[in-house]
Amino acid sequence: MEALLSERSRLVTSSAIRDLLRLTAQPLVLSMAGGLPAGELFPVEGLRSIADELLAEPGSAHGALQYGPTEGTDELRALIGRGEHGRGGGSGGGDVLITTGSQQGLDLVARAVLDPGDVVVVESPSYLGALQALRAQGPCIVPVGADADGLDTSRLAELLAAGLRPKLCYVVPNFSNPSGCTLRAERRRHLALLADRYGFLVIEDDPYGALRFRGEHLAPIGSFGANVVTLGSASKTLAPGLRVGWARVPTWLMAPLVRQKQTADLHTSSFAQAIVARALRAAWFPAHLETIRAAYGRRADALCAALGRNGATLSLTREPEGGMFAWVRLADGIDATALLPAALTAGVAFVPGAAFSDGAEHRDMVRLSFAGLGPAQLDTAVDRLAAVVASSGQFGERSEERRNVMLTSSPPPGARRSRAVPRLA
Ligand code: PMP
Repeated sequence: MEALLSERSRLVTSSAIRDLLRLTAQPLVLSMAGGLPAGELFPVEGLRSIADELLAEPGSAHGALQYGPTEGTDELRALIGRGEHGRGGGSGGGDVLITTGSQQGLDLVARAVLDPGDVVVVESPSYLGALQALRAQGPCIVPVGADADGLDTSRLAELLAAGLRPKLCYVVPNFSNPSGCTLRAERRRHLALLADRYGFLVIEDDPYGALRFRGEHLAPIGSFGANVVTLGSASKTLAPGLRVGWARVPTWLMAPLVRQKQTADLHTSSFAQAIVARALRAAWFPAHLETIRAAYGRRADALCAALGRNGATLSLTREPEGGMFAWVRLADGIDATALLPAALTAGVAFVPGAAFSDGAEHRDMVRLSFAGLGPAQLDTAVDRLAAVVASSGQFGERSEERRNVMLTSSPPPGARRSRAVPRLA
């Protein structure tokens, strides 16, 4: 019966790495793999009292439980339009569409703009969910390198001058997933200029901008040009289970996106939108943001300190100034995907860098999330990882011998193992 599947469902695949990462959910594995925000920091009390109030007021309850407009509720669209979602300052122009998470924004833009074979530029490494949403439309994806200052816009300019004609360019401007890096201010301006000159659309995917715990907030790419879609989300500032995101889009794109959204889900949950709108205006919201920024800042500091102590085996690309991730190079060109089974055996998990490209790039890189573990756990997790790297490094670069040994390895000295930790041999 699989012959019934469409070409599109064949294009969206689950990677082998994803399948392996299911095993990281073991209780004794210290996981720096997950991309989840810290659950203990969810503003449960604030959200409970908002939900209670909403349901207690008949007028509000009916609105929040009824079907609503596809564009989103006027209340929430107006708040997002004014930039009242945790960052303050200008947020660029454009119409506001409320989406079911920013992931839906990515999917809708890809559906509305791309035909099979169209060219899409992505920063490399790139967020996995964006690669999946884009790939579903069958485009030709052209990765352009990103360094510690984000997408290399000079390289993009060279490719454009040489004749590359993308329809879309995808970037995460703040504390990128996976690299934790932020697109430098001049590069933001440059990218918006290139989009105007060559007539393509930038997708500025910004779920992490409000999680800055150090340094100055930078103006969004959307404030430098008209050809930009800026995606935002309540997932990292409130809770991802609400599934509320938004897109600021050029006016010509609004109606096509609304039509795509009508076929997908009619509209984002009215109840969740009403909760988010009240939460963004709540007296506790600014203090809540400070709490999560400070907690992530402490966790990032602990991770960086532990990496610093293990500099011989693990090197950090750039100290994160916000968000949830650090991008780390393994010593000796070690292949992170091949290392993962041994790491799991030793009780530590990460996402191998190859997951964030077509599989050929970033093989010696790992994404470490500092959001889900406390400082002491991060300390132990990094020590375990460094020990696994050190014990595999002695076999030399990408040798078959090392791979086989890693797949059957015992834990490195000092690593605490338990029977509950899976062995993948
Ligand atoms: N973009 C990026 C860069 C992300 O990291 C994520 C989630 N991890 C999303 C979009 C999707 O988030 P959501 O749909 O919950 O808003």
